[in-house]
Amino acid sequence: MPFACPECADPGSLAIAASIELPSDSRSDEIAVQIVGCARCGFRAAAVYEESRRGSLDAEAVDHAGYRMAGERLDDLSALIGACSEPGNSGCRCEAHRRLGQVDDSGRWCGLPETTGSFAMRYSPDDDPSVVAGTGTGD
Ligand SMILES: [Zn+2]
Ligand SMILES: [Zn+2]
Repeated sequence: MPFACPECADPGSLAIAASIELPSDSRSDEIAVQIVGCARCGFRAAAVYEESRRGSLDAEAVDHAGYRMAGERLDDLSALIGACSEPGNSGCRCEAHRRLGQVDDSGRWCGLPETTGSFAMRYSPDDDPSVVAGTGTGD
């Protein structure tokens, strides 16, 4: 599933390279931490996907944001995700899940440490069926 790269502005070259599911917290039912990378310019970053199905039936809220991190921190995060044998299991109790899944006193997930900025994770328009390609006027 391609996303727009915030660095080279390619609309569909940013892809999710790794992902780990964390336990739900006081706000979100689903939390996933991801590593994203651009095939075109080599840009790498972390991303967080959060989904909340609380509240009224139709009020499904999705929050997907990318986070810039120092290369070293990103390597650490990538290694941590790679160290878990069950990244798709939010109930896993390994070291990676314990370190990434920390919550604060109010039960809210603490988020990613040491990020240096954030950007929107946007789907590639090519993948969006609501976008009609071309006007069909010919030449
Ligand atoms: Zn790029
Ligand atoms: Zn784990």
